[in-house]
Amino acid sequence: MGPVTALAADATIQVAQAETDKVTSDNPFFHKWNTRFGVPPYDAIKPEHFKPAYEKAMADHLAEIKSITDNKDAPTFANTIDALEKSGQMLGTVARVFGSLTASNTNDQLQKIQREMAPVMAAHSNAINLNAALFARIDALYAQRDSLKLTKEQARVLERYHTEFVRAGAKLEGKDRERMATVLQRLAVLSTQFSQNVLADEKEYKLVLTSESDLAGLPEFVRAAAAQAAKERGEDGKYVITLSRSSIEPFLTFSANRALREQAWKAWVARGDNGDAQDNNAIIKEIVQLRIERANLLGYKTFADYKLADTMAKTPQAATDLLLQVWEPAKVRAAEEKDDLAKMAASEGQNIEIAPWDWYYYAEKVRKAKYDLNEEEIKPYFQLDKMMEAVFFTANQLFGVTFHELKDVPRYHPDVKVYEVKDKSGQHVAVFYSDNFARPSKRSGAWMSSLREQEKLSGKVTPIIMNNNNFAKGAEGQPTLLSFDDANTLFHEFGHGLHGMLSNVTYPQLSGTSVLRDFVEFPAQLLEHWVEQPEILQRFAVHYKTGEPIPKALLDKILAAQTFNQGFATVSFTSSALVDMAYHSLTDAKDLDPDTFERKELAKLGMPKEIVMRHRSPHFSHIFSGDGYSAGYYSYMWAEVLDADGFDAFTEAGNIFDPKLAKKLYEEIYSAGGSKDPMEAYIAFRGRAPKVEALLRNRGLLGTGSRVN
Ligand SMILES: [Zn+2]
Repeated sequence: MGPVTALAADATIQVAQAETDKVTSDNPFFHKWNTRFGVPPYDAIKPEHFKPAYEKAMADHLAEIKSITDNKDAPTFANTIDALEKSGQMLGTVARVFGSLTASNTNDQLQKIQREMAPVMAAHSNAINLNAALFARIDALYAQRDSLKLTKEQARVLERYHTEFVRAGAKLEGKDRERMATVLQRLAVLSTQFSQNVLADEKEYKLVLTSESDLAGLPEFVRAAAAQAAKERGEDGKYVITLSRSSIEPFLTFSANRALREQAWKAWVARGDNGDAQDNNAIIKEIVQLRIERANLLGYKTFADYKLADTMAKTPQAATDLLLQVWEPAKVRAAEEKDDLAKMAASEGQNIEIAPWDWYYYAEKVRKAKYDLNEEEIKPYFQLDKMMEAVFFTANQLFGVTFHELKDVPRYHPDVKVYEVKDKSGQHVAVFYSDNFARPSKRSGAWMSSLREQEKLSGKVTPIIMNNNNFAKGAEGQPTLLSFDDANTLFHEFGHGLHGMLSNVTYPQLSGTSVLRDFVEFPAQLLEHWVEQPEILQRFAVHYKTGEPIPKALLDKILAAQTFNQGFATVSFTSSALVDMAYHSLTDAKDLDPDTFERKELAKLGMPKEIVMRHRSPHFSHIFSGDGYSAGYYSYMWAEVLDADGFDAFTEAGNIFDPKLAKKLYEEIYSAGGSKDPMEAYIAFRGRAPKVEALLRNRGLLGTGSRVN
């Protein structure tokens, strides 16, 4: 090699080095964060930082795994499980921050990275989950588990690692192992595409209202939120209805314009189902087929069998039995409700057959007539800020924690609020991010996520927890007003939030919400019960103009109306859960056509034609954008058996903040993460196993052809 070439090569190396230096020097993921409590420096994080950060984090992780498998010493809990628990920390951080942005404030650049990273991340997981040398060490420890003198928590960690590795395919060999890796990688790509398609359909759609006849029936709060949505979408001075639940449901509830209701409703239920580039049907078919193959490779007949094996319910049959126990009485109740709606329409001279886009509208009128209650009357009492005070108050009364707003920490959007959480003695417990508003760059729904999980293995690591909602923001200078349902959602997500914030375990594997899927909704749904209590409402449901607490008469009416429309709610939920289970009970999906399949399954169930599934297949993100709730949508109902029965304990004690019960709740549930068997934990809290009656009673389904014995 001549001197000139050598010099050029050298220069190239120097340039490359300089670029690497630049990437590392500007990239916040390559440095320790000096922010308060180590929160992510969102103000310094740019989309282009993620790929280099992911690459470094994955390389570090693989090196850590290699040092475990290269260890010549016989496997011990410390050199294998502790080491595994401490590995991949940078990757966890990068993925959690990335996930928070792609879910809550995404853009084209982030979405592109998300698509590119999905198969890479899946391949990375496979490299670890299907690592034979690593599994051999875990398997050896598992075989000797009784003689290792493990603490209770360590025993559970080891058991979870073993279970999860086996379920990921660690026992597979040769071609099967390769095929599993390919299947998982393809599934990661498909589920990313699925969620991006739904988001695109939600983002593109806007129903623009301009004339008084377009706005007919809409009360002031719906108009104000629609005006705000219009402003955000460049339609200043007009009104926009979007496909976000908190925008479209009020519209369907109040719009007197039947043609517009039909138009909006049809767009809503057609998300992901429009035969265009964003259509999800082909994706569903491929996902279901690959999941069957995945289950078969692991020795299960169906994906539902595979999924349910690692849950409280244990079998698809047990979950389905519960759903059907609710389904029949719910249908009976829904039919009664429909008759009421038809009568109401007739009384207004509308001799129509109730269509799905009429349900919300006439239900609201029936509610007004039956309970002298209407949403417009309720809403001024449910200010978002006051309801936030209410969740904080509830957490304080139960668990002694206090919340202190932090104004000086970086956030990814100005609407996000951040709080420091302290315990009774003023000690730091957690940081809590609250992101309550809908925006076009945010996915729909409501969820909890973590930016850092609690653990004690690597020193005292405190959690950073985030709640997301999709409330329609009030107009400028006006408070955001919630529906009672919205207030419920706020408490629900905060319940998940507390599960993360109060976590007090040693091992990351068991931290916070890392529990079995059909248990994870319990702490969230349990908290919803407090929003219905007069003690909470009299204090925090105050009128946004007068500051007057909600009148007793109105409160009584709200509580009396709790079982109203529960036939509808139960049918729309339960049908979704049963269709989910049907997809995942297939043994072959080569000829699956999701639209036809969904229609046939619903016909088999006797689905009332006036009600639609809460989530139709082409936008059923719970089950198709990721694995989380696949063959697991039933979990909400499963957990409701626990929360309905569990809250009764407080009612029976005659004190919704009963200190003894609250202490047990903290010890057994909210602080315990996945460290305990869920049923044992429940029984330790409640003093006995759960009963289903409380659920049926709360939904008003007892005595409506119920098959409860
Ligand atoms: Zn939940």
